[in-house]
Amino acid sequence: MLLFTAITNTHSSFAQNKDSVFVQQVVKEATDNSQLKSLAHQLVDVIGPRLVGTPQMQQAHDWAVKTYQDWGITARNEKWGEWRGWERGVTHIDLVYPRVRSLEGMQLAWSPSTNGKAVTAETIILPEVADSIAFQNWLPTVKGKFVLISMAQPTGRPDYNWEEFATKESFEKMKKEREAQTEAWRKRISKTGLNTRGLAQALENAGAVGIVQSQWSSGFGANKIFGANTKKVPTVDISLEDYGLLYRLTESGQKPKISVRAESKDRGVAPTFNTMAEIRGTEKPNEYVMLSAHFDSWDGAGGATDNATGTIVMMEAMRILKKFYPNPKRTILVGHWGSEEQGLNGSRAFVEDHPEVVQNLQALFNQDNGTGRVVNLSGQGFLHSYEFINRWLARVPVDIRNHIQTTFPGSPSGGGSDFASFVAAGAPGFSLSSNSWSYGSYTWHTNRDTYDKIVWDDVRNNAILTAILVYMASEDPQTMPREKSVLSTNPRTGQPGTWPEQRKATRKGGLD
Ligand SMILES: [Zn+2]
Repeated sequence: MLLFTAITNTHSSFAQNKDSVFVQQVVKEATDNSQLKSLAHQLVDVIGPRLVGTPQMQQAHDWAVKTYQDWGITARNEKWGEWRGWERGVTHIDLVYPRVRSLEGMQLAWSPSTNGKAVTAETIILPEVADSIAFQNWLPTVKGKFVLISMAQPTGRPDYNWEEFATKESFEKMKKEREAQTEAWRKRISKTGLNTRGLAQALENAGAVGIVQSQWSSGFGANKIFGANTKKVPTVDISLEDYGLLYRLTESGQKPKISVRAESKDRGVAPTFNTMAEIRGTEKPNEYVMLSAHFDSWDGAGGATDNATGTIVMMEAMRILKKFYPNPKRTILVGHWGSEEQGLNGSRAFVEDHPEVVQNLQALFNQDNGTGRVVNLSGQGFLHSYEFINRWLARVPVDIRNHIQTTFPGSPSGGGSDFASFVAAGAPGFSLSSNSWSYGSYTWHTNRDTYDKIVWDDVRNNAILTAILVYMASEDPQTMPREKSVLSTNPRTGQPGTWPEQRKATRKGGLD
């Protein structure tokens, strides 16, 4: 506590006065004139999901540049690579025999289409086979059929629901049985002699008309929607509830039929970008303070909490900074990264392409784990982060600062989100880490990552926090030294910890 006071006292009272005026302006603007809802509406509802290589991703980049320009902020799209171009169309899946029911499901990203028509066929379940030879012998049976390749979950109730209502014995029994079933399904796949990717391709090559799967995300109604492994026939994900229905009907010999219409367009090769916007520094224009959030998403829903919320936090903070701090000491730069979801590609490319920024980076603040208010901030293994971040946080209103648990010096993250691309290059990148709001089960990469999940008070809290941290980092008379702390021994290997290595961006993706 004493040390903390001593640090904050080094800031002159004149500067402190100026700081308080700025802080008051930020809080007032963010509260009375918030643009968060209209930004989120444009991004999540109007543009929608932002899968790398899709026209919607491009639309989002163009929208961001235009929005910054309307605020009087210089912005540009910076090309860093190319990706397979694809556009999602309609998915419609119906049970048509033995009764009719429209099923909740959608094709996975990059899924091939059904060529403008609906395909109706019987379903078949991936069987338990003795080995890969038995699998090859069974394989011709899939001709003309949709193949169910996921386990049917024994319960669609999340564990927290069981915990609340089941007897202890019954909850334990369910978990045990589910574990055994999951393990048995894993073995069923491995006995085919193929991994998930190879399996999908073997099935389509043997004449299956489509792959049906269900990747439950452990919450009511929530499934994760990733990419397809097929090249000719569609791969669809069906909700736990409807997948279970289809599975049981198939298993009991009802010979159910489904009709699948999957529309999508291959769009060749698409250029990929980062959107960059900046407010030029006046005293130290060649030193940088960065705001950072990935701009792309998976495409099962609108990517509201992953990562429209991080995106609008940075946009709103930039808007407010431009209004009340138009002539910053250092250059303020925001990065809206492309293709984070395929491996931090946009930010890795930026780090490779802009050594002048990376070498002169005072600090970068990234947000990317949901809609929640920031509750954790780690020093990422930088020895002097304690002194600097505490000094900056000291000016943040107490009702925002009080939620934040800091860890110093902390240890460097090897991945997780785009700040790690900078940390790996030895530059001070930090993660403004949110509380969960059930991110992992309900919204992260799911079909439920939608506008309604945004918690506005928390997002506003984060925009205020970011604007103030950026201002303080820009105004700081000192530049943060880059000494790294000695990393603690890895308890698993017994080896001393090592700094994460810088990794190359994938500049051409999805085109194999
Ligand atoms: Zn994310």
